[in-house]
Amino acid sequence: MRIGALEAGGTKMVLGVFDEEGHLLEDTKLPTRAPAQTMPELLAWFQERQIDRLGIGTFGPVDLRETSPDYGTITATPKLDWRDYPLLKTLQEGLGVPCVIDTDVNAAALAECWLGAARGCENAVYVTVGTGIGAGICVGGKPVHGLMHPEVGHMLLRPHPLDPMPQGICPYHESCLEGLASGPAIAKRAGASAETLPEDSPAFTLESNYLAQMCVNLIMTLSPEKIVLGGGVMGRESLLDRIRKETVRLLGGYIQVPEVTARIDSYIVLPELYPISGLIGAWLLGR
Ligand code: ZN
Repeated sequence: MRIGALEAGGTKMVLGVFDEEGHLLEDTKLPTRAPAQTMPELLAWFQERQIDRLGIGTFGPVDLRETSPDYGTITATPKLDWRDYPLLKTLQEGLGVPCVIDTDVNAAALAECWLGAARGCENAVYVTVGTGIGAGICVGGKPVHGLMHPEVGHMLLRPHPLDPMPQGICPYHESCLEGLASGPAIAKRAGASAETLPEDSPAFTLESNYLAQMCVNLIMTLSPEKIVLGGGVMGRESLLDRIRKETVRLLGGYIQVPEVTARIDSYIVLPELYPISGLIGAWLLGR
C-alpha cells in the first residue's frame, strides 16, 4: 500500500509518499499560492504516484467536526484565497481514495507522541514557535479536536513588566501568546529579525518568560507527560534551557512531581522528527 502524506502550510506544501512501514519513498515541495494554481499541481503529483490513501495535516483554522457540512474546509484564515476552501472534499474527489485530515500541528504532535520525542506518552503537547505559534495536543494517544481544535497560540498571557511592547501584535487579541512571542513579535519589538539578535538580547528574556507562561498554562490545564517545543524560534540554543528554568520558577513549587522538580530537562524537550514531524504525522493519519 502506498500512503500519501500532505503537510499543507501557509507558505509551502510538503508532499510525500510512504510505504506502510513508514519509509519515505518520495517527497517534494510546492509553494502555497492560490488554490486554483496550487491544487491542480498537487493533485497531479499524487495521481501520478497512485497512492491508496492520503493523510493531511493542514494549516488552519479548519473545520474538523465530522458531522459538519463543512468538514475539512479551511475557515477564517488570513490567507484570503484559502478562506472557506473545501480542502478535504477537493482531495477526496480529485484522488478518489480515502483521506484523513487534521491540523498540521496535531499531525506533528501525533508523530512526536508515537515515534518521536514524546514516545511512550499518551498525553503530550507539540508546540511550534515561528511565524505563528500553534500547538497540537494528544490525549490518550489521539489528537484533540473537541469543539473545533486547540488554538494554543492565542491563549492570553500576562505581559512582562519590562516588555516595551505589552500590547502585542495579534490583530484579534493583541497580547496573546502569538501576539507577544511569535517571530514577527520578537522582530517588531527588537527592530531586527530574531535570527540576527545576540543570545544575550533582552528579547530572549521576554521570550523565555512568555513561552514558560504557556508551558505553565499547558501543565495546569492538560497535565501533559511531555511538552515538545519546535519551530524556527526554538533554533536559538539558549532558549530551551531558559524556558525550563522559567517554567519551574513560575510554577512556584505548586506541582510536585519529579518530572518537573527533578527532570525538567527531559520534560520540556525539542522535537526528534523535526523538520518532518508534520509529514510523518500525515502519514500516520493516512495509515
Ligand atoms: Zn491572538
